[in-house]
Amino acid sequence: MEMQKAGKIQFLKPRLGGTTAVAGFTTRHEGVSRPPYNSLNLGSNTLDSPHNVEGNRSLLARSFGTTLDRVLTVTQVHGTDLLVIDSPNQELSHFLKLECDGIVTNQPGIMIAVCVADCVPILLHDPVKGVVAALHAGWQGTVGNIAGKGVEAMTKMFDCNPKEILAAIGPSIGRCCYEVDAPVRDAFQKAGIPWDLFTTANGEGKWQLDLAAVNRKLLTDAGLADGQVQSTELCVCCNQELFFSYRRDDGDTGRQAGFIMLEAQQ
Ligand SMILES: [Zn+2]
Repeated sequence: MEMQKAGKIQFLKPRLGGTTAVAGFTTRHEGVSRPPYNSLNLGSNTLDSPHNVEGNRSLLARSFGTTLDRVLTVTQVHGTDLLVIDSPNQELSHFLKLECDGIVTNQPGIMIAVCVADCVPILLHDPVKGVVAALHAGWQGTVGNIAGKGVEAMTKMFDCNPKEILAAIGPSIGRCCYEVDAPVRDAFQKAGIPWDLFTTANGEGKWQLDLAAVNRKLLTDAGLADGQVQSTELCVCCNQELFFSYRRDDGDTGRQAGFIMLEAQQ
């Protein structure tokens, strides 16, 4: 995944379907928010000035040739519910307060996005059927298999074939920095996720967990081949200059976004 620029926005660009969709993972650069939200804070669920967040979202939209009213986010609650948009001309601001953790659409011209600051952002694109998804996977969403549910929504509602879905896993907290305890282990084991494969023991009752790698496994369990899943392998906590990290900054930080938008048909 390459670092690129669109307008002023610096972002990581996954290889997702060539010219039929634009997609990326933002960095913290070139926004208008002040510390500790400096500077491209895209999360409205922060103590940052709503005016600045709106300015940043507007900058993101403009950088990819769209407008603020075409940027769609939801209120993320560490669950696995998905919002599906399958008809045109929706008033997107109505969905801002809807509590769910992923968005799926076959509608062009809507920039769907998830906001994160440690959790795993996942983007899906079926370039054959013209369907995209943006998913938010913290440890709870991972235990609930939001990745698999995203693939399932695409196959059930839009007749996508998992063998044609491309996935990109964005920057998130790495195994290096993500210490978890026994309740997290218990939840993963109860969900049937092979704990030892994705963790390193770190003293009594503590483990370092590779959340991105678990989500890669969930995507391949859902029918994607390993080669269909790209991953940045970047730890947001280790890369302070590029990314927000909730743990590193004790919760007082901004949010980067994973975003994807189907291009309007010519
Ligand atoms: Zn790290």
